[in-house]
Amino acid sequence: MKVIWYAMNKHLIAILTLILALSVTTLSVGFVYKSQKSLALTQLNNLANKHTDRLIELVQRDLQDIGAGANFYYSTNPSDWYQFNTFSKKLLSSSDSLVGLQWMEKVAVKDIPNHIQQTRKTFPNYQIYTVPKGEPKVEGYILKENKPIYVATDIFPRSQTNINILGFYSSRERFDRIIEHLVTHGEPNLSDKVRLLQDSLDRKTPKDGMLVYTPVFSQHEDHLLGVMIGVVRLSIYFEKLVSEINTENSLSIKIVDTGFDAEDDPILFESTDWESNQGDIIEKVAHLSNRNWIIQFKTKVAINKNNQWTLFSMAGAGAIISLLLTFIVSLLTREKIRLGRMLEERTSELRFLVEHDTLTGLHNRRAFNDRLSQLLNSKNAFSLVSFDIDKFKFINDQYGHPAGDSILQHVSYLVSQRLKEGDMFTRIGGDEFCIFTNVAEQTELNHYIEGIRQAVADSQYKMNGKVIRCTISIGASIWQGESSEELQHNVDLALYESKESGRNTATIFKR
Ligand code: GH3
Ligand code: MG
Repeated sequence: MKVIWYAMNKHLIAILTLILALSVTTLSVGFVYKSQKSLALTQLNNLANKHTDRLIELVQRDLQDIGAGANFYYSTNPSDWYQFNTFSKKLLSSSDSLVGLQWMEKVAVKDIPNHIQQTRKTFPNYQIYTVPKGEPKVEGYILKENKPIYVATDIFPRSQTNINILGFYSSRERFDRIIEHLVTHGEPNLSDKVRLLQDSLDRKTPKDGMLVYTPVFSQHEDHLLGVMIGVVRLSIYFEKLVSEINTENSLSIKIVDTGFDAEDDPILFESTDWESNQGDIIEKVAHLSNRNWIIQFKTKVAINKNNQWTLFSMAGAGAIISLLLTFIVSLLTREKIRLGRMLEERTSELRFLVEHDTLTGLHNRRAFNDRLSQLLNSKNAFSLVSFDIDKFKFINDQYGHPAGDSILQHVSYLVSQRLKEGDMFTRIGGDEFCIFTNVAEQTELNHYIEGIRQAVADSQYKMNGKVIRCTISIGASIWQGESSEELQHNVDLALYESKESGRNTATIFKR
């Protein structure tokens, strides 16, 4: 049974071994790949943090410079404010991105005429003006409720375009909100992306600027003296950032302004290959005073060449080991099946030998005993026939032992030919044989054993050109419920009678 199971499953066992070994390999490679990828992601994350910090640092530096500009107005007397030009020159020389400073002085309505008069000492053509929303430029004061104006009183650098800005005050609601924020929080207010006047007034020109509003409070009283506006060119930040990125990383960047008023055009910067780059995205946030910039870094998180080789080697070695293991398992299974088959063959040979006679192939005494007790228990009618070759010793002596063996085989064959269905023919030992037969009627039994006797007596066996003849004496008894010993004894008596009456005789035991 086991052998059949193995035979059926020999391929299955090999396949299962292969699947198991390959699964272990795949899992191991997968685990190492995941760890390496997670390491690469950590490295990208660190890189993203570094670049985010760098961007914040660039902006903060400009905020400090603008703060310094504001401090100039805070810490000097109005009589010294004309020196702003010299002060700003130094300030702006240290930054590429900070392109301008504008001093928006707070002027109460009643002070406007005096203010204009004073400013004209430096700028003779100075006049206040505003540009209401959707309307052309208007000179003079137009605000309601006697609101003070925050008017561009000095500007750096004093280019012609910038000089034209002098005298401008905002009449828009948005500016009021900025002032409110500055007063409430006392910290710089960063605008969304704006189109720089320096670039063009044309609305098609890309927006590349940011305005930083810094409050200047009076030293003694807690009220605003004015607002310092820093004009920043945004692209300088992003160009610096991109130039500092190692090109090997193929890192794409996108910066989105999530602050107030940026909804219409929130993208501050986007690498040219942003859309085509199919990598993983890591997102960081730069917290800048009143607004947050979302910085997205995109790159394919790939594992390096060395680690790739490690993975390939692992996968290759795993596959080879899996195949070897499968080969060994299949060899072992085949050997097990072969040994199993051999064992089964030997076992059935032994089983045959235990119950059979090697010379004639007939059942032996052990089988005889088993059948006898079976028949006695079954209570079915049967007869026991026993026969013995006459003067067999003489045959042995005359023709030799091998000839005797051949005669034993010859007699076995002849008798086998005459057996009835269900008969069991055994060699009890030496030249003595027995038959269990279902023939249990006197006349029929007599006819049966006479036929056997006659067949042997009529036969002749040729060996080495010599003719050997032999006869048998038969004793038989119909079982009639007696014990096995009694039955055998009765048969022996009948056989003895046949021998006594001159041999070549068949006798049925008479009760
Ligand atoms: P009887 O007619 O009284 O039976 O005389 P017999 O010579 O046949 O006497 P018996 O049956 O006692 O002799 C049996 C002989 O059979 C004894 C032994 O030498 C011989 N013999 C027993 N087994 C074998 C065998 O396997 N091969 C051969 N060749 N001879 C055997
Ligand atoms: Mg004999």
